[in-house]
Amino acid sequence: MGLHKAYRLKKHQVTALDGVNLHVEPGEIFGVVGQSGAGKSTLLRSVNLLERPDAGTVAVAGEELTSLRGSRLRAARRNIGMVHQHFALLSSRTVAGNVGFPLEVSGVDRASRRTRVGELLELVGLGDKARAYPAQLSGGQKQRVGIARALASAPQVLLSDEATSALDPATTDSILALLRRLRDELGLTILLITHEMDVIKRICDSAAIMEKGVFLESGKVLDLIGTPGSLLARSLFPLPANGGPETVFITYPRSFDEPFMSELTRRFDVDVNILGGGVEQVAGQSVGRLSVDMRGARRNEALTYLSEHGLLVEEAGK
Ligand code: ADP
Ligand code: MG
Repeated sequence: MGLHKAYRLKKHQVTALDGVNLHVEPGEIFGVVGQSGAGKSTLLRSVNLLERPDAGTVAVAGEELTSLRGSRLRAARRNIGMVHQHFALLSSRTVAGNVGFPLEVSGVDRASRRTRVGELLELVGLGDKARAYPAQLSGGQKQRVGIARALASAPQVLLSDEATSALDPATTDSILALLRRLRDELGLTILLITHEMDVIKRICDSAAIMEKGVFLESGKVLDLIGTPGSLLARSLFPLPANGGPETVFITYPRSFDEPFMSELTRRFDVDVNILGGGVEQVAGQSVGRLSVDMRGARRNEALTYLSEHGLLVEEAGK
């Protein structure tokens, strides 16, 4: 790994990747989030070697792609599907024609193609749309076609470049749910890039924040949420603005059976006044957030107690 990529433009050089180390576990959904121009698409295109990195190696499913050329590289690429933001469908072909296209290119016969396309369309919930044309479909349906096409050669790895960025929120939800189901049912490994924190929150097991060609932070989402000072945690859960000097924000990165608040009052004799709270689903788990005002001589001891029990404690204004 340690990927580098520079683009030489007429006058100056743009470093799109400046030493990125990315490791995605088999079967996980890994999200890279960052603003436009951060280098996300370049990173994704480096994974299937649509862009050849200037330095560094890329290995997918145990095979080092950077050492392959020609037909062996093409074969290895069939193990990697790609989904695009703007679907990239052929308008003159039916849904079935689009999904079957990669199979046609790799020389699969007509009868096997038909069967496979039928299965793929069922898999993405478009069993009845085989003969429709892209222009007759909604954005969400088009993206389902794009996903079915990406899965045509039964890849183990799926890359997604802003797959939901052109979709409305309800459709985004349904596509994210589909990706998660495909991971669960097919054991896919998914690497997705997005500029939306919500996508990370909803379906990613691990994530990285990317800026100017480097990862500022990366790891398991639930670990990062429990890490003091984590940028990802702060972006996923911005601190509420309602804090006073006594306010403490507490994050529970997993569910706890222990009644912490009553425990605190008993042990440390602090007064706790709950200001707000809620529970959100992150990486398939419930993460609780609570803002409280806490007062008392042993307040610091109480906060240490919470930290020691794996809760993330943040004080307003610190
Ligand atoms: P992102 O997907 O995060 O928006 P990109 O990977 O598309 O970022 O781009 C990263 C940087 O590399 C940007 O400064 C972009 O202008 C530049 N870049 C990307 N692709 C090319 C290219 N083919 N030629 C020249 N510069 C490029
Ligand atoms: Mg991009």
